[in-house]
Amino acid sequence: MLHDLIEAFRKNGCCICYLIRKRVHKYMGDFLYEQVNDVGIREQLRKSLGFCNIHAWQLQKLGDGFGESIIYQDLFETIINKLNNIYESNNMLKTFIKELSKNKNLDNFRDKNDICLICKQEKEWEEMYALSFIEYFHEPIFKKSFQNSFGLCIPHLLEVLKKCKDVKLFKGIIRIELGIMDNLLKELKEFHRKHDYRFSKEGFGKEGDSWIRAIEKIVGKGTLL
Ligand SMILES: [Zn+2]
Ligand SMILES: [Zn+2]
Repeated sequence: MLHDLIEAFRKNGCCICYLIRKRVHKYMGDFLYEQVNDVGIREQLRKSLGFCNIHAWQLQKLGDGFGESIIYQDLFETIINKLNNIYESNNMLKTFIKELSKNKNLDNFRDKNDICLICKQEKEWEEMYALSFIEYFHEPIFKKSFQNSFGLCIPHLLEVLKKCKDVKLFKGIIRIELGIMDNLLKELKEFHRKHDYRFSKEGFGKEGDSWIRAIEKIVGKGTLL
């Protein structure tokens, strides 16, 4: 795990975002290949009505129509059954109409606690990497690699801080992040300055993509491939 994190620090962007993206990609491939026929998984998918918007389309991009058709047959049967019941019973119809304004879109057909399987996995990995981050922070090679990296995106910084029980460690992480963010802010200001017509001939240096890194810093990379 230490090795994974050090390797991730060398990539562009937040190390936890990078590691999660890598795992999600592998998980999806394995999922379509191995788990589509698993009875327990199929049942879970019926309950969550498949995946969230982002993961459903990410999975689609892998192009496995065969695996997907198995999943979506189940989902259509689930929805058709529910809609049929609503159509047939006036009591169910009344309740359904009442619930429509309270629930968010697909939550009308599922329990709000049954979230997308891949989102659930992501959350577990996020927690695991946040804990590892804290565990390895005292290692000089870890700290040095962190210092020389993009740092963490703010959502993952907060996830790490949430798990940090030691004030000294807490402050150590914030101090390094402040240094990284201060540099990014300077680059943003430089990028902005060069848009002034008086300086526009100077050309851009490493601050050229600072506005993109700033977006990633605030919201994270997400899992879009
Ligand atoms: Zn991140
Ligand atoms: Zn999801």
